Amino acid sequence: MDKSKPLKDHKQIGQEQELFFTDEVAPGAPFWLPRGMVIFKELEKYIRELTEKAGYLETSTPIMVKSQLFKQSGHWEKFGEHNMYNLQLSDEQDDLKPISYALKPMNCPESTILYRFRPRSYRELPLRLSEIGRLHRREKSGEVNGLLRVRQLTMDDAHIYAAEDQIFDEVSNILDMMVDFYKKFGFEYEFRLATRPEVRAGSDENWDKAEKKLAEALKKKSLKAGDKLGDGAFYGPKIDVHIKDAQDREWQLATVQLDFHQPEAFNLAYVDKDGREKRPVMIHRAIFGSFERFIAILTEHYQGAFPTWLSPVQVVLIPIADRHQEAAKEVYNELQKAGIRVELDNRSESMQAKIRDATLQKVPFMDIIGDRELESRGSKIEDGKISVRTREGKDLGQMSLTKFTQKVQEEIEKKLP
Ligand SMILES: [Zn+2]
Repeated sequence: MDKSKPLKDHKQIGQEQELFFTDEVAPGAPFWLPRGMVIFKELEKYIRELTEKAGYLETSTPIMVKSQLFKQSGHWEKFGEHNMYNLQLSDEQDDLKPISYALKPMNCPESTILYRFRPRSYRELPLRLSEIGRLHRREKSGEVNGLLRVRQLTMDDAHIYAAEDQIFDEVSNILDMMVDFYKKFGFEYEFRLATRPEVRAGSDENWDKAEKKLAEALKKKSLKAGDKLGDGAFYGPKIDVHIKDAQDREWQLATVQLDFHQPEAFNLAYVDKDGREKRPVMIHRAIFGSFERFIAILTEHYQGAFPTWLSPVQVVLIPIADRHQEAAKEVYNELQKAGIRVELDNRSESMQAKIRDATLQKVPFMDIIGDRELESRGSKIEDGKISVRTREGKDLGQMSLTKFTQKVQEEIEKKLP
């Protein structure tokens, strides 16, 4: 990246590339434009692939639930009325006594309801339930900032219910997944073990056990790790992943947390081999943390030049003159059929202006179609040549449409950086 250029923040890039914006009608909650939604959906697809491969089962739980649930989980006492959206609602016309509801600020308590849906056996453990959940948190208006600090967020969440002797493997697998994931984006990463805070739930004995398990997993994986003393969740210790972006800024994104408290608060059990009821442990984990914050960080990290697989538009076709429009349209159809996100710039602007605009929009590839390209065509469109340029201003010269299609498809499939 060219460090001499002034850096843009994600809000500016979001406006210029028409990705997302916020409006005063919904402070702290983003509006996603079609191009931004492409990025959101690609990440969603990727995280679904990873979790499915790792044996997770996807679920979904209600956004609005009775506040009582958060009192039982302990969140109410910790986050309380000030950080949650609470509503007093009368459900039935003949029952005027209002009921207290909350918009969920996290998915965990509701995940325990999924677990309790029916009696569980040791055979089902580890039970890995994932949820891409929409959450609401009452951030102060002065602290709300674009996509970095929002009041409505989408989390790539999961809760794993496991027997105690399964903790090590589960935590290790999650750490592997995190490493794979963050490498893909070219981030530097570091792990931090966050230990028991002053105000906490659960017995010291459980805290000792949980902290030891996490430290063990880090050690056996030989992962570089620092400590965050006293920074654990109120229900258990956690390992946070801190990443460094292209501007050397540090962010805390991924987290894996061990929780002995909520299984107790919700009286979760499974029937073990010996026929006796035992308490599972709950492991909370998120890979991005929140889609919103992660997309903000990616946008600034790449300064809008997303890798091809994430780019809202992957190829722009630039016919030089009107007589090249028809050929450009045929190339457009071929690329679209090949699953490539392509746009045809058929404005009556000069070629230079079109190249400039596509470069500003950070589209990875520009295909120029003019007389030379028309002459090279035989009877089959795929054999015809196109002139290819990149957003970095590199001229890749002429190549056949078949070869170009393969090149772009490979970048997409391999999620090349
Ligand atoms: Zn959780």
